[in-house]
Amino acid sequence: MSILDSRAKEQAWIDLAAELSAKFALTAAETDRQAELPVANLRELFDQGMDTAILPEEKDGAGLSYSAFGRIVFEIARGCPSTACVWLMNTSAAESLITLSSPERSEHYLREWKGGKRFANALSEPSSGNLFLNPVQEATPLGDGDWRLDGAKRFVSGAELADYYLINASIDGQPAFFGVERDETVEIHDIWDALGMRGTRSQLIGFRGTRLKAANRFSPVPSTRQNLIALGLPWLSLGIAQAAYDALIAQAQGKKLADGKPLSHVQWIQYETADVYVRLKAAKLLAGQLLELADAGADETVIVAMEAKILANQIAKDVADLGLRVGGGLAFTRALPFERHLRDAQAGGLMAYSSELCRLYVAKNELNVREQG
Ligand SMILES: Cc1cc2nc3c(=O)[nH]c(=O)nc-3n(C[C@H](O)[C@H](O)[C@H](O)COP(=O)(O)OP(=O)(O)OC[C@H]3O[C@@H](n4cnc5c(N)ncnc54)[C@H](O)[C@@H]3O)c2cc1C
Repeated sequence: MSILDSRAKEQAWIDLAAELSAKFALTAAETDRQAELPVANLRELFDQGMDTAILPEEKDGAGLSYSAFGRIVFEIARGCPSTACVWLMNTSAAESLITLSSPERSEHYLREWKGGKRFANALSEPSSGNLFLNPVQEATPLGDGDWRLDGAKRFVSGAELADYYLINASIDGQPAFFGVERDETVEIHDIWDALGMRGTRSQLIGFRGTRLKAANRFSPVPSTRQNLIALGLPWLSLGIAQAAYDALIAQAQGKKLADGKPLSHVQWIQYETADVYVRLKAAKLLAGQLLELADAGADETVIVAMEAKILANQIAKDVADLGLRVGGGLAFTRALPFERHLRDAQAGGLMAYSSELCRLYVAKNELNVREQG
């Protein structure tokens, strides 16, 4: 396939995401209000082949590039951030299990994923979700080669829909990753009375003697492997930022002041619009560079993902905040979407790695600070 053909194919997937997202936008406020999982949206993404699109063609995927994947997350997030968040987490858990498991397990997970089963990431521990790659909950050997886990994971997006979880635990002090099929030892606790991203229903999961099977343990993760969550999280925030920005422009152009002129003629709104516009554009350019680096398999992807996340998390909050001020009193109510954008935008900076932790890693890299922690 020529480069032009492959670009056109990828653009068609992005356009499809945009089309579906416009539909998701119609129910996003209700999903938020009811704190309900956007089951119909997730089903539609599955029916349209989005779930498997990131997989290579030999696994019946579309072999999409990371550049296309990030933009698909962006498009979905513009319409319904909760849908985009659950979809990103589900896709990343499934892709990891399919790619990193033994050939036999990989085939099983692929069959299940293609058949519409849901996968979720259950990595964050209650003690410190940001250190999710270094779990402290120790799994106990069962004596037959398997282990058991008694503990909990917190903030598992789409937990209630999931048939499989990607989880980690400490074994002899070292992180170990497993695929776990949901059974009666897995308990879901409803903790999700959340400020924003309410449709993700990111619940607490308890494990009571859950068997971690040696056969379902991952092989060590190659350092060159790209992580869909790290690539997608900046685009999740950027989708929220774009939705808030589009609503802001519509509000500034549509609402007239007492003198009959629209709000867009007010000088402070012009100044602040220019400010968020340029910063949103810069954040998108950096997040775009991140995806290009990932497609090139570049080593600096890890650090650029943090750089992109810092900008994306902040601009989402700032555009929503400006929307709230431009919208005035009505924006303090649900009559305008800015209060929802503002609440949803808070999640990006909290999700691992948090904006603060990203700053620490970026700064240590710049300052050549090598000590641990
Ligand atoms: C909407 C949403 C969806 C999510 N979905 C999932 C999911 O599907 N699966 C999943 O596994 N997780 C998920 N998470 C969890 C998420 O990725 C983070 O792990 C979690 O939000 C971190 O929260 P915590 O309370 O454990 O924070 P902590 O890690 O306890 O951090 C608390 C504060 O301490 C700071 N901090 C932490 N460590 C350090 C340090 N070493 N140095 C300096 N400062 C530090 C942080 O910046 C933060 O300000 C989700 C979270 C949200 C909000």
